[in-house]
Amino acid sequence: MNKAAKIGFIGTGIMGGPMAGHLQKAGYSLRVFNRTREKTQNLIEGGAVWCDSPAAAARGAEVVFSMVGFPSDVESVILGENGVLSAAAPGTILIDLTTSEPALARKIYQAARAKNVGSLDAPVTGGDQGARNATLSIMAGGDREDFERARLLLEAMGKTVRYVGPAGAGQHTKMVNQILVAGIMTSMAEAFTYAKKAGLDLPTVLELVGNGAAGSPVLNRLGPRIIAGDWEPGFIIEHYIKDMTIALREAAAMNLELPTLSLARERYAAVAAAGYGRKGTQAIVKVEGHEAGVEF
Ligand code: NAP
Repeated sequence: MNKAAKIGFIGTGIMGGPMAGHLQKAGYSLRVFNRTREKTQNLIEGGAVWCDSPAAAARGAEVVFSMVGFPSDVESVILGENGVLSAAAPGTILIDLTTSEPALARKIYQAARAKNVGSLDAPVTGGDQGARNATLSIMAGGDREDFERARLLLEAMGKTVRYVGPAGAGQHTKMVNQILVAGIMTSMAEAFTYAKKAGLDLPTVLELVGNGAAGSPVLNRLGPRIIAGDWEPGFIIEHYIKDMTIALREAAAMNLELPTLSLARERYAAVAAAGYGRKGTQAIVKVEGHEAGVEF
């Protein structure tokens, strides 16, 4: 993609803000829209043009990214009145980075194709740190030609960037990630509760297990936040509940039972009910611990 290309970017929160920043640093001109305008401030100071709707962000853009919260947000910014598709010129590529539903990805793909517009579902993993450091994994579904055209843009934001199949395949791949994370998060809550109850020194325990067989990017990223009592997101609990709900629905449609994932969703529903829905997913340990008589 030529550096003169204009790029639309909708949704500049925890993930979208730094991801759009990498495109800007790579030399692309951005047209940005976000529900809360202040969250585009850094980008505008860096030369991005503020647009007052998704449609406005899409005008004159060769590629339009969205990185919003929930499937309903994706539907409204792309397919809604004043949505991206109402203004995208033929030949434009829409790339939805949000973690959303495979069926919605296919619906957007079909609506886009009918207007000669390309569409990729390209959710990401790697967390807020991965977004800041441009080390995300990005999994793209849609037409391979669109992926190849957009590859350089995706590589400006991620380290492991792959085409995974037709429309919806990106979202299915992301669900695999979210199913894995369910086991890690629930185990982490149990392990930290156990360690604290046993009177162990948590930083030393984390150093040891984090460098051993049980180490993982999730543990090594969130463990220090738990120890510091930092419950800010990272990854918002309401978003994770959204993902688990999508994965369980998709699994049911395939006649699959996923008991670990079902348990994780139940536990996270309890964490959200305790008032932590907009906090980071590490807050599970606070509620699990409290129930076991251990305070974090
Ligand atoms: P976030 O900080 O809430 O960012 C979402 C942004 O989209 C917010 O700035 C929000 O506006 C904006 N937005 C939502 N609906 C909109 C709409 N209809 N029109 C315009 N702007 C809208 O969340 P995030 O952590 O960046 O996550 C974004 C997506 O990536 C979610 O689907 C999440 O599941 C997924 N994800 C997150 C992580 C992570 O570690 N954080 C990792 C991988 C994937 P406001 O500023 O007004 O709220």
